Amino acid sequence: MTASDLNQCLDCSACDLAKTRQTVVLSRGNPDARLMLIGEAPGAQEDQLGIPFVGRSGKVLDRMLSEVGFNLDRDVYICNAIKCRPPNNRRPTKNELAACRSWLDLQIALVDPAVIVLTGSTAVEALLGRRDAMRQLRGQWQFWQGRSVMPVFHPAYLLRHASTDAEGPIELTRRDFTVIRQKLCEL
Ligand code: SF4
Repeated sequence: MTASDLNQCLDCSACDLAKTRQTVVLSRGNPDARLMLIGEAPGAQEDQLGIPFVGRSGKVLDRMLSEVGFNLDRDVYICNAIKCRPPNNRRPTKNELAACRSWLDLQIALVDPAVIVLTGSTAVEALLGRRDAMRQLRGQWQFWQGRSVMPVFHPAYLLRHASTDAEGPIELTRRDFTVIRQKLCEL
């Protein structure tokens, strides 16, 4: 199992999203990072550029990670549960999540992260098979195949709920990433 195995994903046509995508969007960041962040699926800009989280959501995410002390090039590997853009940014179907799961598993095996962060409910469903409300799940450590896993709100949700209230999504997510950073220091 090597990085070249993962490159075969660039030719994948295991689900119908292959027919409408511009590019397969694999990852950005450091493949040796101890923190792996998994989002939902590429949006329009990601589909054009072949890089995950480069739109407005990505800017929110990058700012949040930087504010709590992560170096984006060194400390984090970022990918999505689904590697090809669903038309009109709709939520990926169960079949699409299942079809793409082997690529996600391969990424996890290659990066071998100490901590996985799941941004949003689709990433939670993709990895853990759970559909709990994010309000209940965020900030709660989960354990999956010997790894520490933290669900957090998706940055697109933070854009839609931009209150800086102490109990609002932005501050809660900042707290979650601070806890994640502390965890990485302990492990
Ligand atoms: S979404 Fe995943 S399974 Fe579907 S074609 Fe793209 S890489 Fe293959």
